[in-house]
Amino acid sequence: MDFAHGAPVAGDLDVEWSHGVPRGGADPGPPIQVHEYDEHTIILRQSKSTHYEAPFLYLLMGNDRAVLFDTGATPDPAVFPLRETVDRLLASWQARNGRPDHHLVVAHSHAHGDHVAADEQFASRADTTVVGHDPMAVQQFFGFASWPEEVVQLDLGGRVLEVTGIPGHHPASIAVFDPWTGFLLTGDSVYPGRLYADDMTDFLASAERLVELAAARPVRHVMGCHIEMTRTPGRDYPIGTTYQPDEPPLQLAPDRLLAVRDAARAATARPGVHVFPDFLIFNGTGPTAMPRLMLRTLRQRLAARWGRLTS
Ligand SMILES: [Zn+2]
Repeated sequence: MDFAHGAPVAGDLDVEWSHGVPRGGADPGPPIQVHEYDEHTIILRQSKSTHYEAPFLYLLMGNDRAVLFDTGATPDPAVFPLRETVDRLLASWQARNGRPDHHLVVAHSHAHGDHVAADEQFASRADTTVVGHDPMAVQQFFGFASWPEEVVQLDLGGRVLEVTGIPGHHPASIAVFDPWTGFLLTGDSVYPGRLYADDMTDFLASAERLVELAAARPVRHVMGCHIEMTRTPGRDYPIGTTYQPDEPPLQLAPDRLLAVRDAARAATARPGVHVFPDFLIFNGTGPTAMPRLMLRTLRQRLAARWGRLTS
């Protein structure tokens, strides 16, 4: 496969993501939704019926190896058969492309529990490298000499990804640019939802560098790992929501990186929740931040319950 010419490929994002079912409602559907962006790029979404976080995972194929970014929120293969799903997808890709001895890298956007839970499913898999979770293991695997600002390459065989560190949400957060799709994978640092800046100083520095990185590359879509907003500007679904019929698309336009950076600049001096039309920033720095977030969640949940009782 020639990944150098014709990039970025025009893929398919005209998809209705699996977004859960109403309480006591219908068949929740399969535990993992599989969507082909193009024949070498697969986006997976964990079903809301298996975990409310319903994270997105990315499987990118190159001539020599594939990489899976993230392993979802549920370890149990009986509930969340990730290994089986990935094995099936890779076997089909390998057969179509005549690459039987294809290696698999299992890496992570960051190491929070809803992104690494099914790592164990890959532990015994042949020809597989599972990258560790702490910043040191991540730096070693990708070959960072200077973390986080360096941009390093992960060559999948003709398909060369660029990887940089974006700590702030998590100490080992990375962003990945894929020239083949024009995707900038941003994990939980930029997506249509609640952006938790656990370390606001780092988060802002990473947001500044994401803008620079994207300015120098043909980014088509900024792709995160969750959807938590509704289509109503400034309104997110409360934490724990298992039915989200009014989700906006997963992908964000590259200019939203500027919006997130500007929002991070504005939020940096004030702990707590900062609401913007298509995302929220939660400045988690300082002792009052967490109680504020808990109070906000409680208020949202009471409002949602009241809405159900009165509608
Ligand atoms: Zn997450």
